[in-house]
Amino acid sequence: MLLPQDALKYGKEENLIRAIAAYAGARAAEIGAENVFNFSIGNPNVPAPAIVTDTLREILDTVPPAVLHAYTAAPGLYDVRKAIAENLNGKFGTAYGAEDLYITAGSSAALAMAMKGLLLPGDEVIVFAPYYPEYTVYAECFGGVPVILKCREPDFQIDIARLEAAVTERTKIVIVNSPSNPAGSIFSAETIAAMAELLRRKQAECGHPIYILADEPYRELVYDAETVVPFVPNFYDNTILCYSFSKCLSLPGERMGYFLVPPRVTDSRDVYAALCGAGRILGYINNPSLFQYMLPACLDATADLSVYRRNRELLLTNLTAFGYEMVKPEGAFYLFLKSPEPDAAAFCERAKRFEVILVPGDCFGYPGYARLSYCVATETVERALPALKALAESYQG
Ligand code: PLP
Repeated sequence: MLLPQDALKYGKEENLIRAIAAYAGARAAEIGAENVFNFSIGNPNVPAPAIVTDTLREILDTVPPAVLHAYTAAPGLYDVRKAIAENLNGKFGTAYGAEDLYITAGSSAALAMAMKGLLLPGDEVIVFAPYYPEYTVYAECFGGVPVILKCREPDFQIDIARLEAAVTERTKIVIVNSPSNPAGSIFSAETIAAMAELLRRKQAECGHPIYILADEPYRELVYDAETVVPFVPNFYDNTILCYSFSKCLSLPGERMGYFLVPPRVTDSRDVYAALCGAGRILGYINNPSLFQYMLPACLDATADLSVYRRNRELLLTNLTAFGYEMVKPEGAFYLFLKSPEPDAAAFCERAKRFEVILVPGDCFGYPGYARLSYCVATETVERALPALKALAESYQG
């Protein structure tokens, strides 16, 4: 049968993370959900903040249905985009406007549109490992060539020397995800500044823009008062922001996010138009209106992060005591554990014997580690501790 090979490949290929989550679901049906410690996916367990539900109710009661359920403009409601832009301006001292933003179905759609809108065949897309696996899917399917660079251990910052060696004439995009999935690391201001300086030099040498795609679904998910997430567009002009409300507002099913092409991007109006055109080609237009109307009232809200803070504390203290090694998690809601044996898939298989469900780092381009997603009820973490201890002990003599 004549079908596009990329579509067929990605349609048939098993999504391992989903398969592991499905296993956890099946196991819960067999032995009871309370007996399975499902740390597999980043589906927030903490409910959306009350302001989300309250605002939705008010909208349903006050906006006439023919208005509420009408098509919005392709990039989203003007006033909603303006509110988001002004909120960013207040936080980061920028001067964005509604015309720089496009409301998308989560960060996924924003990333896909950015890659469809920017890439020419053979353009290289630099991705720092460990990485969110869909990056390479979008890059490949829109004609790009993913170039994977390992982060520096043990702090999981960008290795600037490695980046210097990897940038070529064909480099078009560098994807930066901070706080990161799966490592939970945050790229420091020093790291971002060094990367920006390097990319400015490389742009001048090769005579064309190199864009940073700053993928930021976890921007607000930080737990220590002193932790700062550097705002990448303030370090590097050719930065396009891909943002999501999935994690900060616990709304992954509602598919809300945006991309932002700041005015300082080279030929920003053309770049914005190319990304809009990508949306038209892909059918990513007129995101659902009800949740657009909701956004302006909720831009400063987050789900109750104290649950994740407590989970992180509990896990860090106890897993360290049990003998696990891990990346110091600064943000997001993931722990990236060093596998006690070289094969992380074997470690995750063994964990299943203790009803602990983890995802091997191989899924994120980083063998030898496993991801533990702690966006679960604190009770689940507490009850999983003996199992995690027994799992560690099973490797100790
Ligand atoms: N980027 C990263 C790093 C993620 O972890 C995720 C989801 O887990 C996404 C993008 C996509 O999220 P969404 O499409 O729900 O915004």
